[in-house]
Amino acid sequence: MNKKLSARLFQFGYKLLRILVLGTIISVTGFAELIRSRLYWHLPFPFQTVLLYTALGFGIYLVLGFAVDLGGPILSLLLSRRPEFESLDLTRRGEEIVRRAGVRSRFRFRLKRGIETAYSTIRKKVVIDEELAVDGPGDFILGHEVTHQIAGHTRGKIIRFVLYSLPAFGMAWYEGWLPATILIPYSLALIVYPMKSALHWSEYDADEGGAWLSGQENGIQTLMTLMKKHGDYESFTHPRPSKRIQELQKKFGQAH
Ligand SMILES: [Zn+2]
Repeated sequence: MNKKLSARLFQFGYKLLRILVLGTIISVTGFAELIRSRLYWHLPFPFQTVLLYTALGFGIYLVLGFAVDLGGPILSLLLSRRPEFESLDLTRRGEEIVRRAGVRSRFRFRLKRGIETAYSTIRKKVVIDEELAVDGPGDFILGHEVTHQIAGHTRGKIIRFVLYSLPAFGMAWYEGWLPATILIPYSLALIVYPMKSALHWSEYDADEGGAWLSGQENGIQTLMTLMKKHGDYESFTHPRPSKRIQELQKKFGQAH
């Protein structure tokens, strides 16, 4: 699909998701409280059906969101089977980053053509677009991906997700008497923002790691390039590049 169009569709879907999430949380909590206070006896008829479809929508959207956003490169890998190739230079630079990070596990580093992004797997393989892999900014991306695969980082992400979700679990438990057709989309809606916050934290943290390992300037330069390439958008898994730049500047101080 046309890149600009798919980016715009994704943005539209993302806005729609936010409306659905907030709408579901507000309306369900509102109705549940009305019923609890006996102002209402029954849930208005189409409400349950509407919410069931909302749940389906959430499910599909979340899967799509992950596929496009997180799995985009993985999806394109599956569809196009672009070949990965090794580069001595990349491996040498990657291993240097791993050494600086003080990580003992062995990472593998691979290049790919035309994916315009980078990703890493839990099996400690880092794949990076050939053009993005250039000296300097490429080192930041390697540092970012290596940070994502450090055990402490993953722990931090999980702990944050659980902490951020506590109010959501509390709410779902409190309204647990609602029928499943409502409780399912309600719980899903409640979990979207905590999940997003944990994922965004993970990006900020990986940026910080990348900047420690390769220099703040490389980080900012890379994020500027990404902003030019893909636009200044936030997604379910990634904060907007301009915010990531701001965070880096906050942590490391403005460059002079
Ligand atoms: Zn990342």
